[in-house]
Amino acid sequence: MNTITTFCTECERQVKATIEEVRETIDVRGCAVTDDFEYAVCPYCESRIPEPVLVDRNFAKMYGAYREAAGIPQPDEIVALRRRYGFSQRVFAAVLGIGVASVQRYEGGALPSESHAELLRRARDRRFLLERLRGGALRLSAQERERALRTVEQQATSRVDYAVVRLDLLDCLPREVAPETGMRALDADRLREAVVYLAAHVGNLFATKLNKVLFYLDFSAYRDEGVGFTGLRYARADYGPVPDQYDLVMAALVDGKALSYREQGDGRVVVAHRGADLSAFSPQEVARLDAVASFANGFSSCAELSAYAHEEEAWRETPSGALIDYGLARSLHASSLSC
Ligand SMILES: [Zn+2]
Repeated sequence: MNTITTFCTECERQVKATIEEVRETIDVRGCAVTDDFEYAVCPYCESRIPEPVLVDRNFAKMYGAYREAAGIPQPDEIVALRRRYGFSQRVFAAVLGIGVASVQRYEGGALPSESHAELLRRARDRRFLLERLRGGALRLSAQERERALRTVEQQATSRVDYAVVRLDLLDCLPREVAPETGMRALDADRLREAVVYLAAHVGNLFATKLNKVLFYLDFSAYRDEGVGFTGLRYARADYGPVPDQYDLVMAALVDGKALSYREQGDGRVVVAHRGADLSAFSPQEVARLDAVASFANGFSSCAELSAYAHEEEAWRETPSGALIDYGLARSLHASSLSC
C-alpha cells in the first residue's frame, strides 16, 4: 500500500498517511470528469489530509480531462504552439493580447478562463495569429511584430500539419468483399504502396488528381479483371469521382512519413519519401499502375483530366454524393488503360 509522510492538522503530528485511490466523478465547469483520484488518509483520525503533491495531481487529472472535453489546448500543446514560431512567453502573450503571467500559468497547468481558452483554441490556426499580428499586437515593437509576422507566414507556407489517423483502424471504411468495393477487401498496406508508387510516377500529383487516378486504377482493374485494385469505394462528388470518406483516407495515407504534402501553387502535391514496396503486387498489377500513371501524365493539367472524368458514365449516371457502382466500369472511356 502506498504511503506518504505528511502532517495531519487534526492530530497535530507527522503521520505516515495511506494513499487511497477513489474513483469519483467531479464537476469541472459543468463537465463531469470521472477518474481515479488520490487522497492521503490519516491512519489515526482517518481524515483526508490535503497533501499538496496529491492535490496537484488530482487537479491535473481534472483539468486535463476537462480541457480534452472542451477542446482546450493542454499545457504541453501550448508550449509546443508557442515554440513552433520561436515566440517567447512575452511575445506569445502580446500576440494573444493577454498577460504574460497568464501564459506562464497555463503552460504550468492552470485552467484558462473561458475567454482565454477560446484564444488558445484559435491560436492553433496560423491564420488567426496572422490576423492578430497584422491587426495590432500593440505591446510588441514594430521590429518584433515584423519578425513574428515573417515567422508565422513562413510556417504557413512550408509546414503541413499531419493528422494521426490509422487507415487500418478507420471504422467508416468497409473491409469486406462487396460490389461497392469492387469485389476486393480493402488492404491498408496495399493501398499505401500503390499511392507511394503513383506519387513517384505521376507528375504534379495534386490531391484532386490522386482521386481520379485512384478511380481509374480501380475501375479499369474491375473492368478487365472483375476485381478492383484497392478495395476503396467511390462516390460522386461535383468535381469528379472520389474515394468515399476521402478526407479521412487522405489523412491516413499522407501522414508525413512515407507520403507527405508539398505546397505548390494553390494546392498540395502528394510526394513519396521512399520507393514503393511492390511485393504485394503481381507483375500485371505493376503494369496497371504504370499504365494508369502514363494515362494521367497524358493530360496537360488537372482540369483536363477532370473534364475527361466528367464524361465517364460512372460519374454522370450517379447522383451527387451517392456511391458509384463498379458495374459502370464496363463503359470506361479510358481504353488505353487495358493491360
Ligand atoms: Zn489524523
